Amino acid sequence: MSHFFVDSQNNKGEYPKFYRQAQETLAREQRRLSHCKKGSNNYYKQKLVVALIHEKISNQRKDWLNKLSCQIAKDNDIVCLEDLNMKGMSQTLNFGKSVSDNGWGQFVNMLNYKAKSVIKVDKWYPSSKTCNHCGTKNVNLMLNDRVWTCSECGTVIERDYNASQNILDEGMRLVRKNRKNKTVGTTGLAYLCLAQQGYRVGSHCL
Ligand SMILES: [Zn+2]
Repeated sequence: MSHFFVDSQNNKGEYPKFYRQAQETLAREQRRLSHCKKGSNNYYKQKLVVALIHEKISNQRKDWLNKLSCQIAKDNDIVCLEDLNMKGMSQTLNFGKSVSDNGWGQFVNMLNYKAKSVIKVDKWYPSSKTCNHCGTKNVNLMLNDRVWTCSECGTVIERDYNASQNILDEGMRLVRKNRKNKTVGTTGLAYLCLAQQGYRVGSHCL
């Protein structure tokens, strides 16, 4: 899994290639730095090289996330997202770097001010475990089960896509509850799954 998100139309988004290439370059230059003698001229030169790559990556990510969030805010009246505690998650599950560096928090902030309406679905809502077709909960679902079959209705379920449908349903239920007498405009919804380096670490519904 290397998708930045999977949406409710089963679109999968991931970081652009140039971004991933820059990360490879960063890893290489960081290795070089670790071989330099601390305090030497070469050490400081190499430190600058690493700092500049960091900055470049950060700008690339910000730029990409800005475009992505603009597009999503433009295409959708309502953005529903799972209210995840990223900091707690990285500590509890030991995702560490892959969570803190992935730009997810930045992305959510951008959506918060760009989208017309952002609906937060409780992080304890079982979006992954629940079969969207019949509502049965798969209590044995593990983090690395990407595809599973519902024991009740037999549907073969793609984990993230299924979760996107559930977050959509739950988000819209909250919308209806909050706006009983108002109609809601056309809404595109998507589930965004932050999954770098083999981990699913977050989810959003647009
Ligand atoms: Zn089912």
